[in-house]
Amino acid sequence: MIRRLLTALGAGHTRPVHVLLGLLTAAALAQGVAFALLVPLLRALFGPQPGAAWGWLWLFCGVAAPAVVLTFAAQRRGFRVGAEVARRLHHRLGEAVVALPQAWFTRSRVGALTRVAGEDVLAVMSLPAHQLRPLVTAVVTPLAIVVVVLVLDPLIGVSLAVAAPFLLAVLWMSNRMVARSDRGRDLAIGEAAARVLEFARAQPVLRAFGRTVEGHRELDTALRAQRDADRRMIGLAVPGLVSFGFAVRVVFTAALALAVYRFLGGLLDAPTTIAVLVLVGRITEAVGTGAETGATLRISGNALDRIAEVLESPPLPEPDQPRMPTGNVVRFDRVGFGYRPGEPVLHDVSFTLPDRGLTALVGPSGSGKSTVARLIARYADPQTGSVSLGGVDLRDIGTVERTARIACVFQDVYLFEGTLAENVRIGRPGADDEALDRAARAAGLIEVVESLPHGWDTRVGEAGATLSGGQRQRVSIARALLARTPIVVLDEATAALDPENDAVVGAAVAELAARGSVLVIAHRPATVRDADQILVLDGGRIVERGRHEELLATGGWYAGFWERRNHAAGWRLVPGPALPAGGHR
Ligand code: ADP
Repeated sequence: MIRRLLTALGAGHTRPVHVLLGLLTAAALAQGVAFALLVPLLRALFGPQPGAAWGWLWLFCGVAAPAVVLTFAAQRRGFRVGAEVARRLHHRLGEAVVALPQAWFTRSRVGALTRVAGEDVLAVMSLPAHQLRPLVTAVVTPLAIVVVVLVLDPLIGVSLAVAAPFLLAVLWMSNRMVARSDRGRDLAIGEAAARVLEFARAQPVLRAFGRTVEGHRELDTALRAQRDADRRMIGLAVPGLVSFGFAVRVVFTAALALAVYRFLGGLLDAPTTIAVLVLVGRITEAVGTGAETGATLRISGNALDRIAEVLESPPLPEPDQPRMPTGNVVRFDRVGFGYRPGEPVLHDVSFTLPDRGLTALVGPSGSGKSTVARLIARYADPQTGSVSLGGVDLRDIGTVERTARIACVFQDVYLFEGTLAENVRIGRPGADDEALDRAARAAGLIEVVESLPHGWDTRVGEAGATLSGGQRQRVSIARALLARTPIVVLDEATAALDPENDAVVGAAVAELAARGSVLVIAHRPATVRDADQILVLDGGRIVERGRHEELLATGGWYAGFWERRNHAAGWRLVPGPALPAGGHR
């Protein structure tokens, strides 16, 4: 467990834990020695010269006092190291998360990450703060005492030494039983928590369709599974926990019986017998307390496993010697990609984005449009073929260089805690107010800023809830405009929802395309019609490519798509017969 903690902390950050372990060991050793001094003390007290006991008493105080001071110091340091461990783990998790490929961030993993960074780090923090002390005491103090008993009465000493592996075996077995039940219970709790969340999120839909009763069913099943797992845990854990306590008492009773037997046989004098009994009692107590931390220790162990899983997830590899792209042409060369083995999403996709102009990506839902966009942003690497920028494979370009050249405007716009201005400045942290205003104007964000009571200084925490999906997307577009990257990847999906947003996105796309290369997952007919290049994706393959007129003339998927678009547009504006082809809106 300690080794796993040290690994999680990373090289160069293990010293505080080592120092703490040293302090704890010294404290436990001093405790053991202090207890051992009871033997000569008792012997002197019951011997022919009881006055000699004073000397031993002073020596006892001389050892016990440092033991108390060391324990106090170790306890204080334990809290400090706990805080340091938490800080370091957060840091390491942050570093790991930054380097993880975007494909790692599935919905369930993001949920789990919240738990890892919160609850699990807290659980590991209590390892140095609370759990190490009883654990070290449970091992070191009995060891010191056993050594003393070995000297006093080798037979009892040897029996205690022999009992140690027996106790350890019982402890190991009981731990395994409890851990097995814990794991099953963890899964059941996770499932139940996910169902409760889902049930809460689904309320608007369930209520809208009057399905409040059926909506319960999955939740009920999950809760029942959790109850069953709880029962199983009690069934497995209780014998596990009881068996160790029982074994400790068996050892204690055996040592007691042996001491009495040897005293009655005249092989042990009275003071030594009393001392041995006191020492055996102390061993039992130390081991018992250590075992009691077993439950919390297991929780920390499981937490540590989950943290290690995140830390050990393979990061998106950074090139050892990054190469500089020449120019900003993006090329897909026979790219094959799938999120899961055996389930390819893109097949043999090849195309080129020139360093200027608008490329529209269209195709049925699920055809792989977003996946293409993600590969350009290197959210993941293709399994076959390559994606290159300026003649260099994306894998050979450093992250800093890549992000300086490619900006993404995706649907799920994340707004950080901070002011609206700070949120847009993420695009280019040093941008002045004028540049900020210009970007906001082009992104249609300025109207939003002006309507807010504190303008640019409005905290997104307050405004986040009041910003609509379209307005959030404008923040994202403004970021991209401000960043002035030569390549922008944009997903218009939500933008086409209302006419006002439609116009804003249209203008922004035109501006971006005039100064660089833009790849748009297009939904607005105007974007598609005006594109310099249209790529039609179907089933993960590019099935058609060309300009609007060329594709209409082929009468393929695109021609049908255009027909349907116009039909829909016609329906919206003029209830009645559809407008003729080409006359959208
Ligand atoms: P589009 O953008 O054209 O709707 P996507 O690129 O989002 O298509 O999805 C293409 C395919 O990849 C779909 O079958 C989808 O289920 C799958 N897919 C998308 N994202 C993921 C993901 N993170 N993990 C697993 N499969 C995914």
